[in-house]
Amino acid sequence: MPTVYTVVPCYNEEEVLPKTNGKLVEKLNQLINDGRADKKSRILYVDDGSTDKTWELITGFHKEFDCVIGIKLAKNAGHQNALLAGLMKAREFADCAISLDADLQDDIEALDRFLERYSEGCEVVYGVRSKRDADTFFKRFTALCFYRLMRRLGVDIVHNHADYRLMGKNALNALSDFKEVNLFLRGIVPLIGYKSGVVYYERKERAAGQTKYPLKKMLGFAIDGITSFSVRPLKIISNLGVIISVLSVFGLLYALISYFSGSAVPGWTAIVASIWLLGGIQLLCIGVVGEYIGKIYGEVKARPRYIIEKSLD
Ligand code: UDP
Ligand code: MG
Repeated sequence: MPTVYTVVPCYNEEEVLPKTNGKLVEKLNQLINDGRADKKSRILYVDDGSTDKTWELITGFHKEFDCVIGIKLAKNAGHQNALLAGLMKAREFADCAISLDADLQDDIEALDRFLERYSEGCEVVYGVRSKRDADTFFKRFTALCFYRLMRRLGVDIVHNHADYRLMGKNALNALSDFKEVNLFLRGIVPLIGYKSGVVYYERKERAAGQTKYPLKKMLGFAIDGITSFSVRPLKIISNLGVIISVLSVFGLLYALISYFSGSAVPGWTAIVASIWLLGGIQLLCIGVVGEYIGKIYGEVKARPRYIIEKSLD
């Protein structure tokens, strides 16, 4: 039986936490009684620098229930970093860790199916939203655009999967080798490899409290996702440079023809020709510089170049 840790990042969640904890404790006990999870399984709360009573609540749960533990981050580090902190803590004791939101939007009843996939040998199980009726039209629309754009840019992410996922010990160990500062877990996890599975669930409405992802944070998150996983925007710039350089040759020809046919105002030819030519060349050069910055960026990240699943010694 696997030791299961559920990792729950919480940022100012005092309103919803008592309800969440009640449900999670009940679910975990059920899993243990059904023989799906070991008695050493835990619910791990990560307090992401909350300014309300979140940590007091977690401390209270810990006193009341043996299965509840928590860590507190020194300051608000952001959802992704809080998640990582929890997963790295869970890695020490658990066979697998399941991350889920504190607001009960991720259906807790799906936990059984996650563990089923895990017992079938999946090292990573993605929770995928089958329906998002509970989300606003705006959120659904922007999310759709985001997933499409990411795919266009060549990033391998699972459509409609957020951070409700199970990771086995091997995947967690591999994750610890990714030293990126700009953390975008749903982009990193598919890079790890291993056998993976999918569990569909219906995303519910937030049980209480407000979203901790206002538009500005959401946009920042999306930009982080793109720039951490794709150098294609840099390529687009250099392609643009090439196109404009080619066009500028035609512009130059046009200017010269106008000059020789006598229909140009004196001085116009030289100015127009140099604007086109220089503009094109400048963009091209920026593009080339960009290519190199792209390379440096990859190096600075120092991602592991391969991950060994098994070895015969
Ligand atoms: N969260 C966090 N740190 C933050 C922002 C959010 O730990 O800086 C947690 C939050 O408590 C919740 C989860 O991340 O458990 C997802 O946030 P939320 O539900 O507000 O996002 P939404 O579902 O609206 O996208
Ligand atoms: Mg939520």
